[in-house]
Amino acid sequence: AKRHDVLIIGGGAAGQAVTGSLLKRRPDLDIAIIEPRQEHYYQPGWTLVGGGVFERKQTVRPMSEVMPKQVKWYQAAASSFLPEQQQVVLEDGEHLGYRILIVAPGLTLDWDAIPGLRETLGRNGVTSNYRFDLAPYTWELVQSTRKGKALFTQPPMPIKCAGAPQKAMYLACDQWLRSGVIKDLDIEFCTAGAALFGVADYVPALMEYVERYGINLAFQHTLIAVDGDKRLARFKVTRADGEVEEVEKSFDMLHVCPPQRAPRFISSSPLADDAGWVELNPETLQHSRYGDIFGLGDAGNTPNAKTAAAVRKQAPVVAENVLMALDGKPPRAIYDGYGSCPLTVERGKIVLAEFGYGGKLLPSFPNWLVEGTRPSRFSWLLKEKMLPWIYWNAMLKGKEWLAEPEILRHRPAEHEASAACDFAD
Ligand code: FAD
Repeated sequence: AKRHDVLIIGGGAAGQAVTGSLLKRRPDLDIAIIEPRQEHYYQPGWTLVGGGVFERKQTVRPMSEVMPKQVKWYQAAASSFLPEQQQVVLEDGEHLGYRILIVAPGLTLDWDAIPGLRETLGRNGVTSNYRFDLAPYTWELVQSTRKGKALFTQPPMPIKCAGAPQKAMYLACDQWLRSGVIKDLDIEFCTAGAALFGVADYVPALMEYVERYGINLAFQHTLIAVDGDKRLARFKVTRADGEVEEVEKSFDMLHVCPPQRAPRFISSSPLADDAGWVELNPETLQHSRYGDIFGLGDAGNTPNAKTAAAVRKQAPVVAENVLMALDGKPPRAIYDGYGSCPLTVERGKIVLAEFGYGGKLLPSFPNWLVEGTRPSRFSWLLKEKMLPWIYWNAMLKGKEWLAEPEILRHRPAEHEASAACDFAD
């Protein structure tokens, strides 16, 4: 088997960002990336496509342009792991060896878990910003829906960008408010969760918009089936007393956020935790059981918000710790669980949720510039004008703008396995 110093699975946000951070630190490092796709997507832009702000083409670039020239690209999918032999097996049976493996294949959108959904996506008023090809249909529907019932669904956690199902709804409502049709619309947010947002500090600002737009909140409602022709959506509902029942709702427009899970080749591998995700040390992002494996991005089991913003902070941590491991040293860079969700509450304003492990607020900007728990114009400009540029030109290129990793200096050697206790130094 061919062997590389660093082998990376996935050339998405996480795979490319960590490559950028590694090459910045060690430009001659032997790196290979396994990535089957021809395109690289800027998924955070899809919310703005669905809101009529971006063109779809602003959110995609050819993989060949994104892939650094000095990296060996295997255009293939990884299918299994042989951690004892330090090898990965590709779908065509080829084996690739590594000294260090970085696992970053993202997550799987499980469209087929909802009977009837896939057949009707893109038709019958059924759409999703979670797909590049469908986000423009969201905006079409928003413009053409002038009365009736609009449903927005959110599946059980974890999902990538937990705020995205709401963002689609608020931007639609903003348009309906501006065009004067909102009074003729019955808008409902059907979420599997029991709260509007996982971090309570952001809920008051969001509730103001829920009231302004007249949105009905349907908690503990999980979408389980769609009949596109009849325009009916079926939900499993857990009542306050724990009683479970099924209800059917009609719709004129349905925006679906699909259920999400770890990719099968991960959940069926020795790298997985009980829930199927890559089992990582939440601080060092090293695998909990294999010292020569690291992971980041949506496929990891770390309890952060699954976002590109999290990847921006994880990539330098992994790069730092991978180089330590190549040099035979313990990891020393620490990830604090940062993730961010720019909630597009109206066109021109965003509630910029930024938080780390345990829901600790981690604002990037001083309060006078951005009051994180309130709607802000600056945050909208950040999302529309600055973040795409930062993504393509800084994050993927190893320029660690506002993402310098925290490095532990005096780590005692016996703490190799756990990095939790060294902050006092
Ligand atoms: P991806 O970027 O999805 O990349 C995974 C890569 O792995 C893909 O290129 C895939 O082809 C490859 N791969 C898959 N299987 C294999 C295999 N078997 N072998 C090899 N390669 C494989 N984040 C934010 O920060 N802010 C936002 O506002 C935001 N909004 C979002 C809105 C929407 C609608 C969506 C869908 C996402 C949003 N996100 C947002 C989330 C963000 O896009 C993801 O968290 C981020 O892309 C995760 O990076 P990743 O590399 O783990 O996964």
